[in-house]
Amino acid sequence: MDIGIIGGGPMGLSLGYYALRKGHDITIYEKDEVLGGMSASFNFDGDIIEKYYHFFCKTDYALFELLKELDIHHLLRWHNTKMGFYYKKKLQDFGDPISLLRLDGTDLISKIRYALFSLYSIKKKSWNDLDEKYAIYWIKSFIGEKAYNIFWDKLMSLKFYEYQNEISAAWIWQRIKRVGLSRDNIFKESLGYVEGGVKVIIDTLEKTIKQMKGKIIHKGVKKILVDDSTLVLEDENKVKHDAIVSTIPINLLYHLIDKENIANKYKDFTYLDVMCVVIKLKKPLSKHFWININDDEIKIPGLIHYTTLRKDLKSNIVYIPFYLPKDGDIFKLSKEEIKSMCKSYTMKINPKIKDKDFLAFDINIYKNAQSVYKPRHLYHLPSIRVYKNLYALDTSYYYPEDRGFSESVKIAKYVVDRYL
Ligand SMILES: Cc1cc2nc3c(=O)[nH]c(=O)nc-3n(C[C@H](O)[C@H](O)[C@H](O)COP(=O)(O)OP(=O)(O)OC[C@H]3O[C@@H](n4cnc5c(N)ncnc54)[C@H](O)[C@@H]3O)c2cc1C
Repeated sequence: MDIGIIGGGPMGLSLGYYALRKGHDITIYEKDEVLGGMSASFNFDGDIIEKYYHFFCKTDYALFELLKELDIHHLLRWHNTKMGFYYKKKLQDFGDPISLLRLDGTDLISKIRYALFSLYSIKKKSWNDLDEKYAIYWIKSFIGEKAYNIFWDKLMSLKFYEYQNEISAAWIWQRIKRVGLSRDNIFKESLGYVEGGVKVIIDTLEKTIKQMKGKIIHKGVKKILVDDSTLVLEDENKVKHDAIVSTIPINLLYHLIDKENIANKYKDFTYLDVMCVVIKLKKPLSKHFWININDDEIKIPGLIHYTTLRKDLKSNIVYIPFYLPKDGDIFKLSKEEIKSMCKSYTMKINPKIKDKDFLAFDINIYKNAQSVYKPRHLYHLPSIRVYKNLYALDTSYYYPEDRGFSESVKIAKYVVDRYL
């Protein structure tokens, strides 16, 4: 079968790879100059790094299998990372029972409730009873209003804004569980990366696909003519395939699909854009990898001190992600305004960082990066085989799992095995 794949992110590339392995012909259409989508890399002041920070967890089995097949599994590295919490105007240790007990500025009952909730979430096996619940309601019913305001409120309100009350409990549970299971023991978090970064995986996929005679064309798809199983590319060229698989955010299909009754199925899905600021510092920000923030003067829920994980990087890299609904206020700020805001946040978190310590700064924006997962999300999704020879899915199809490289690989393999 001759398959046209829309999107050259991890899902499109691994779908192409698995389809080739099954004996199909494939062509991948990618609108950007670089492959990878949310997992793409860029040259940041001489360092080739991810546009958006990436780490792997111990349960990312589909990724590990792919790495073995691509013969790059030996590049996988694991490190014990530490969490921090900027609370009560100081950066404190967080993420293990002793640090939690020592956390300044909160009462013992809140700490115990938070700890029990985290433990319960990690041990809990099924999400059936959570699928209908709202995350905020579920968390508050477990840990109470007070502990929620300390530990959870900023994470929800500064990520989902007006949608915060609509987020599914099953999705939040899965996020807690994924990271919670990536530990050597309760005191030691262990996260993974591939030496050389995610770019190594993307490049190897590209090379392997080309060696297997798959085609990768860097052109966006403008229209899908469903009855003819034909794609209209951005240069107006038309290409017919036996089957088409779309891996781009499904809300975009509303504008791409030419048949109204099919296109309408994708009308009502909400996605948030992400803006990720990347900073290079002269000296380390802290010993922590992930820093949660609860401070009224800092309008982000957390930041990522990447170099504490990526031991192969020589520079001190910090990522500051901002999730915002369409046309959020932050997008109205100039690059300079964003830069000085992020500088001030960084200097608040570590007052020893001075102006002269900021070596480089950049911003990446990814549209439709985060699906807003409402309860019973899967029931609202159109089926993967949406019409005759047209298949469509995106990161939200592996709900309640959050977006993740491994999950995109896993579902790509499933689609090839099941449908193609
Ligand atoms: C801030 C951030 C942090 C993340 N951190 C992690 C992490 O730590 N660990 C982890 O495992 N995952 C992480 N992820 C998620 C991971 O990057 C995604 O799960 C993964 O990239 C999804 O791959 P995908 O192919 O399904 O989708 P995407 O990466 O979105 O790829 C879709 C592709 O389709 C292309 N496209 C869109 N429209 C068209 C069109 N009309 N024609 C042709 N091509 C088109 C896009 O350019 C893109 O390349 C993170 C993501 C973000 C945003």
